[in-house]
Amino acid sequence: MPFSSLGLSGTLCAAAHAAGFAAPTPVQQGAIAAVLQGRDLLVRAQTGSGKTAAFALPLLQQVLPQEAGRGALRRVQALVVVPTRELAVQVGDVLKGLAADLSPAPKISVVFGGVSINPQMMGLRGGTDIVVATPGRLLDLVDHNALQLGDVRTLVLDEADRLLDQGFSEELARVNALLPLQRQSLFFSATFGPQVSALAQTLLRDPVRVEVQDAPDTLPDIAQSAIAVDTRSRTQLLRHLIQQYEWSRTLVFVATKYAAEIVADKLRKAGLDAEPLHGQLSQGKRSQVLDDFKASRVRVVVATDLAARGLDVVELPVVVNYDLPRSADDYTHRIGRTGRAGQAGLAVSFVTADTEAHWRLIKKRQGLDVVLEAVEGFEPTEVAASPQALVDMSGNGGVKGKRPSKKDKLRAAAEVNPGA
Ligand code: AMP
Repeated sequence: MPFSSLGLSGTLCAAAHAAGFAAPTPVQQGAIAAVLQGRDLLVRAQTGSGKTAAFALPLLQQVLPQEAGRGALRRVQALVVVPTRELAVQVGDVLKGLAADLSPAPKISVVFGGVSINPQMMGLRGGTDIVVATPGRLLDLVDHNALQLGDVRTLVLDEADRLLDQGFSEELARVNALLPLQRQSLFFSATFGPQVSALAQTLLRDPVRVEVQDAPDTLPDIAQSAIAVDTRSRTQLLRHLIQQYEWSRTLVFVATKYAAEIVADKLRKAGLDAEPLHGQLSQGKRSQVLDDFKASRVRVVVATDLAARGLDVVELPVVVNYDLPRSADDYTHRIGRTGRAGQAGLAVSFVTADTEAHWRLIKKRQGLDVVLEAVEGFEPTEVAASPQALVDMSGNGGVKGKRPSKKDKLRAAAEVNPGA
């Protein structure tokens, strides 16, 4: 199915081809025509599925050219709300790239917190056509009268589950109250827990549903492996693997900012170009680390879950879970950083005696068939420190026939992953 069969203009089809998109991905096939027909959308799609272009292309087609200057103010027609600064920049880049040849070109503004608000306010003078924003800064700009949302015709919530995970539900309710009732809403989420479903229900009217998560042909090509290792040997093992297998670009996930700093520091001392990436770094520093990573000036980035979403490094061959993620969903998001845009990827998880039960839980939730292996020279010797870590999550019952309750499982998960 070509892009042109979805109702997109010739210029936008050409823009998609120029971006290297030969044919629409399943989520694009399901979403683009429906958006152009003005329908609301409820999309379950992982990052890596092509979901950004799935809303960016029809949005660009729908935005009407506005006269700017001579006192005329551009009014915001489309609003894209995203959970993180990184995703805001990325979505902004996709929109700007696809809009490059549109004439007249829409004005696209990207705003997020953690940096001075003044340049963003200056950038919004004269109005704008499309805004990509994180919720807090969006509301700050509204409060400063730098933005008005009363003319928005299309709202996109991107990674809605993450928006809620990050505690943005009040901000989203405020944004919703500022938008016209008559509008189109497009809702994207990788997961649909009760909170996400409730939010979707309040925002959407008779939505077209698009689900691509489970279609086997859309699953990225990611090989997964798990290595049993002692807690204290993980950095050495990481170094060994990077060097032995000559991993070019490696994204390493840890549980805390402190761990990100320490592990990156140790790797640097061992001669590897490594940088930490976490929420306590300035926005400038975070952007620089990502730019250096993409340009191969940095070989290893040691990140907290902040980077688990939104980060799009097309050629990212390896993701390492140095610390296991808190939940099975986070596991999906982390490993989804690799194997993007049709490339093969590798996801390696380090499993210690204390996190083994948690690993089994993740495996079970994800339906993974991954055998726990050991690497020669790094065979584990530690035993689990807490009895909870021994709770058997993989079978029908728990230790000594006691079937663990939901609470037991949550407690065990918290216990074995205290830094999370
Ligand atoms: P996303 O799910 O939006 O984060 O996109 C994941 C990756 O897929 C990005 O690197 C896009 O450039 C790429 N992509 C998006 N649409 C297509 C397409 N139709 N064909 C090939 N690659 C695509």
